[in-house]
Amino acid sequence: MIDFQPIFQAVRQAAELCRAVQEMHLAGGEKGGHEPVTVADYGAQALLCRAISLHFPDDAVLAEEQGGQFVELVSDGEKAQVIRLLSETLGQRVTEADIVRWLDHGYGGEAERTWVIDPIDGTRGFLALRNYVIAAGLLVDKRPAGAVIGAPGYPTPDRRGVLFHAQSGIAYMQPLYGGALKRIRASDRAEPASLRVLESVEKSHASHERMERVRRAAGLEESALERLDSMEKYARIAAGDAELYLRLPRLFSKRPHMVWDHAAGVALVQAAGGLATDVDGSPLDFTQGRTLANNRGIIVSNGRIHARVLEGVAKVLAEESQA
Ligand code: AMP
Ligand code: MG
Repeated sequence: MIDFQPIFQAVRQAAELCRAVQEMHLAGGEKGGHEPVTVADYGAQALLCRAISLHFPDDAVLAEEQGGQFVELVSDGEKAQVIRLLSETLGQRVTEADIVRWLDHGYGGEAERTWVIDPIDGTRGFLALRNYVIAAGLLVDKRPAGAVIGAPGYPTPDRRGVLFHAQSGIAYMQPLYGGALKRIRASDRAEPASLRVLESVEKSHASHERMERVRRAAGLEESALERLDSMEKYARIAAGDAELYLRLPRLFSKRPHMVWDHAAGVALVQAAGGLATDVDGSPLDFTQGRTLANNRGIIVSNGRIHARVLEGVAKVLAEESQA
């Protein structure tokens, strides 16, 4: 069994770095064209990939950002910020070459295990001080098998953030910066009026209108609806804090779903006893590299209501194909 502690540590460091960037941004210290997302994204990925390179050197990595883009597209001012923040976080002098090496560690590699990294998922939420997560999924033989998800905005009473993880088919939560580990399970609610449904805040990411039609077709008009950024939606299902997460692309959208937006979430939900499938109930296909193969949408649920939702989706797809 692999020891996730180095990844927990890296996610905590990344969350601290992101918070520092948010604070600088709020204080107006980002003038001069510094893009907070850029600085935090590269900084967070460097920390995660560095931990993988040190502790799991033979594993492959699929991560959102690349070293070449850091060199070519990031301004000198932003690079200096990333270097300063990483040096402070790690307590050592970090160079641009170190950052590029970490960012690209495991890139294009093939191995039995692949880490799938989204350094900041939900950038809109990050910027607006809503919800975002730092996510590391683990594919074993190209299937989601492990997850570490840092959710700084998770709505616990103390509001100090939550670290979720899944390993060997069991899902857990713990306070982001340390504390007691708790096993989590998807809820067993099935009564429509008691259900909590989640979808993206951003209309361009998923069609609010199509998902409303699905809710109606599935008889879920009375269920509560919350719009939420990021893979935190998966964590809410896994923790029993919601029952359904719908993600239907806008009709005719050509944009594929990227694996780093889903690998960790799927592993977490499955370990908690929930289900994550394509619109026809088939498993999501992580075998084709950076994008989910042949995907038409994503249905995530506590399991109990999955068949009912798939029926609703089928009705809507049939209507659309006749229109
Ligand atoms: P969410 O906060 O759940 O809406 O998801 C955020 C993620 O949506 C980002 O990490 C993007 O990779 C992804 N995304 C951005 N544009 C689109 C799009 N047009 N369709 C699907 N996903 C998108
Ligand atoms: Mg993302």
